[in-house]
Amino acid sequence: MRLIAEVSSDGWERTARCRAHDPALFFGPNRFEPKRERLEREAQAKAVCATCPAIQVCREYAVNSGEVYGVWGGLGEADRRAILERRHVTAAAG
Ligand code: SF4
Repeated sequence: MRLIAEVSSDGWERTARCRAHDPALFFGPNRFEPKRERLEREAQAKAVCATCPAIQVCREYAVNSGEVYGVWGGLGEADRRAILERRHVTAAAG
């Protein structure tokens, strides 16, 4: 697991709101996490992202690089999978 603030090469990580939080809020605990608990945790992480000045660049990075795990740019794992699937369908149709 990489910390979100470790991946940037252009400095957006310096404004990342997640720097002030436990990475487990964004990536989950190292144990089985019941669905209800996961949804609550992800909602809290997304609320942090909603206040973050880096949200757009973080979101683009996560989607374009295929980050599989965690909340990035206000998007959870399922959110990013859905975006990638839509892109795939659009590309296949076009
Ligand atoms: S948008 Fe969220 S995950 Fe991305 S840098 Fe900001 S707080 Fe961290």
